[in-house]
Amino acid sequence: MRYSIGVDLGGTDIKAGLVSSVGDISCRVILPTDVEIGGPKVVAARIAEAVRQVLVKAPENHRDTSEIWIGLGAPGLIIAETGVVHFSPNFPGWSDIPLVDYVNAELAKLSIPKDAGKPNSQIENYKLILKGMDNDVNVMTLGEFRHGAGVGYESIVALTLGTGVGGGVVIDEKLYHGSQNTAGELGHTIVDPNGRYCGCGNQGCLEAYAGAKNIVERTHAKIEIGQQTILTEVTKDGESLTPRQIAEAAQAGDRLAMEIFAETGRYIGIALTSIAHILNPQIAIIGGGIAEAGEKLLFEPIRAELAKRAMDIPAQMKIVKAHLGNDAGIVGAAMLAFESQKPVL
Ligand SMILES: [Zn+2]
Repeated sequence: MRYSIGVDLGGTDIKAGLVSSVGDISCRVILPTDVEIGGPKVVAARIAEAVRQVLVKAPENHRDTSEIWIGLGAPGLIIAETGVVHFSPNFPGWSDIPLVDYVNAELAKLSIPKDAGKPNSQIENYKLILKGMDNDVNVMTLGEFRHGAGVGYESIVALTLGTGVGGGVVIDEKLYHGSQNTAGELGHTIVDPNGRYCGCGNQGCLEAYAGAKNIVERTHAKIEIGQQTILTEVTKDGESLTPRQIAEAAQAGDRLAMEIFAETGRYIGIALTSIAHILNPQIAIIGGGIAEAGEKLLFEPIRAELAKRAMDIPAQMKIVKAHLGNDAGIVGAAMLAFESQKPVL
């Protein structure tokens, strides 16, 4: 069995784990990103520290090679070939940061005895190499493709429904980056040309409907115009709703909350209809917190919309929930390390 280390860099936390070539994670570590303390070099040092802690925890037989490969998923526009963060909404001020170089410089400083934990034994250092970095949603897509809901397919798309709506595309078993690394922005598929404004500045993007913040805003807007709902119990004192509260109300049969999820599903289905026509993937995998609303509230309306709108063959695209949950980032990053053809040094 081979092992590599997957690192999932977020604006708040760095999650890392030792991952086997069959996708099992062991020795997890979560550290604060500490982005407010310093710039990219401080973040690079935190990533190296997370790697060090994973290795120290790792069972001896899981780290018996002298060279250990690491993969990294990072938010924003990532230039995968050069290991550069072009821009990241989570790291204000970062512009064309050679993060892979920075992390490799920090990893080179680490000294971890190859037989850590064994007293008086010979010390032989590991060589730690960050082999690759990609956009976090691309990395999650790769994780689902190799070891999650995408196993057995050649071409998939993935949507993550979180604060925003992320996307990733695998075509013929390869992540598709486009000509300038911006492919897969599925959350900015237009679902209503005159619709709600999106954070990107455009009008009517899927994200403006299916992102968590937008689901909450749409619910508040319906309450403000006087629609009846049990959610007024929460909002009557001026408190903001959470997507989970809206989902729970929908599961309890609240008509307004059910309507919100049916609409959300419909907009996702509209976007997936375009995506199915453009790419003809075998499967669309939907993950992120909002996907927890489940089959009846969310997935059935999505499938109904695709069935209604798509031509017969693209309409055969399967639509399923992601399997790996929050682990997709770590698993995908480790797969990136395994699959990188040449080290980025
Ligand atoms: Zn947009």
